[in-house]
Amino acid sequence: MSSSQDPAPAIDAVPTLYGDTMFRSRLEADWAATLDGAGIQWLYEPETITLPSGAVYVPDFWLPELGTWIEVKGPGIPRVEKTAELARSRACGCEAACSCRWPGGEFVLLGRSAAPSRWNESGHRPRYGYAMWEALWGPSAYFVTCPACARAQCITLRRPWLCRACHRSVEKQELHSPVDRVVRFIETSRAGGLFAMPDLGKPFTDEELGPYEEPEEN
Ligand SMILES: [Zn+2]
Ligand SMILES: [Zn+2]
Repeated sequence: MSSSQDPAPAIDAVPTLYGDTMFRSRLEADWAATLDGAGIQWLYEPETITLPSGAVYVPDFWLPELGTWIEVKGPGIPRVEKTAELARSRACGCEAACSCRWPGGEFVLLGRSAAPSRWNESGHRPRYGYAMWEALWGPSAYFVTCPACARAQCITLRRPWLCRACHRSVEKQELHSPVDRVVRFIETSRAGGLFAMPDLGKPFTDEELGPYEEPEEN
């Protein structure tokens, strides 16, 4: 939902201030907060890219330590053609050993709306939950915290499984898919603040969640 060439903006996009940045939608602001919660550096719309097809595209996030782009898309049938083209064109073509700066080349993720917490979880609310993402091209993307440099990130199952930042090996048992629901989705409040979110990975408490808010189409 970032390119001026998209035929129409999402009708429910609500500009949302988080930190010093005004995001086009609350979902984008929530993704920024979620990246902050995982200690992942991000830049919002840092670059206007001309794709091989000639289309002009501004991806939502660039993660400078991880060589990763994130395009945030809410529910429905998102237009992802440009994002998919970016993913195809930035992946590397290394056949065997990849010696690229970023393992597998630059990586493109789609950031989705949160997956709801389970109904029997402490602090369950319909619209708070866990981060959902997908790779836009190639193998699925898994969340991992590098045992060597401690950076949280998404990698693909393309072998070898390497930290995108320090290139050290990661083990399969450390990888989490979105349905494992280990990455908590952090939501910015209507006031633009952020509720405290310690201990990434534990269930929410009612205290953390604050007063109940009616779900909002996003
Ligand atoms: Zn490569
Ligand atoms: Zn690392």
